[in-house]
Amino acid sequence: MRPLFILLLLASTLTSIAQQNYDTVRIRPLKIAENLYMLKGAGGNIGVLTGKDGTLMIDDQFGPLSNKINGAIKTLHPAEIRFLINTHVHGDHSGGNENFARMGVTIVAHELVRDRMTKEQVIKSRNMTFPPREKDALPVITFADKMKFHLNDEDIELIHTDAGHTDGDVMVHFKKANVFHMGDAFVRYGYPFIDISSGGSFSGFINTLDKAMSLMDDNSKVIPGHGELATKADMKILRDKLVDIRDQVMSALKKGKKPEEISALGITDKYEAEMGKGFLKGKDFVLMATEELKASLPAKK
Ligand SMILES: [Zn+2]
Repeated sequence: MRPLFILLLLASTLTSIAQQNYDTVRIRPLKIAENLYMLKGAGGNIGVLTGKDGTLMIDDQFGPLSNKINGAIKTLHPAEIRFLINTHVHGDHSGGNENFARMGVTIVAHELVRDRMTKEQVIKSRNMTFPPREKDALPVITFADKMKFHLNDEDIELIHTDAGHTDGDVMVHFKKANVFHMGDAFVRYGYPFIDISSGGSFSGFINTLDKAMSLMDDNSKVIPGHGELATKADMKILRDKLVDIRDQVMSALKKGKKPEEISALGITDKYEAEMGKGFLKGKDFVLMATEELKASLPAKK
């Protein structure tokens, strides 16, 4: 398959945008704080910090949108874009990397993101394969646990969380503004996608939500990977559903039920109207969770 086709496939499945025509996509900035914005278009939400020290952006959606995104950012502030942070490896968040690198932007990500980008990526559960990214697309600065930026009178902390959506997930905390960009470690399209092939984990996803919420208060603003601007309370709603699913699956496993039986129990029926609107259905989500939780239990004698 050709890379563009694969990218389009990812766009349509990962973000539920069918037949995306990039020509019609509008990049829409939402002001969150004095010099902080969330940009929507197609693909993952972009975060932008502006100011006289230069612009820092988080995630870059799909390659064909790079010029539009660059244009939209320049209307917010004319300063050059200095840094681009990738929250994780997926192409709907990093698809424009090579374009921004060629504009002179420095790309920063977790070391596992760069590592994965240099190799063919297979997402087994979605039957998708992605070739290695070209050299210009690779992050040139990587880190393992934490990194800090001090720019435009803001202190910005990048925090590598537990493996959740993938194993290279990073959340970005703008400390003074009390704003968080969560990447796909928090999404609003329904059941979250746990990319097991890219090192993701259902339990880790819950841990990450808990860790993020421990840094937040009721005034925190949260940029989700997909969906509208959110709050800590919105994250807690998702977290509580996932914990409920985890606890019910665990108790069924302890009763000796098999994964197929557990996914047929109707554990997520009460959530389905709201959560099933994304590309994942409750039954499949429960099966995925069950397989992981089963593997975490001590083997029976
Ligand atoms: Zn993703």
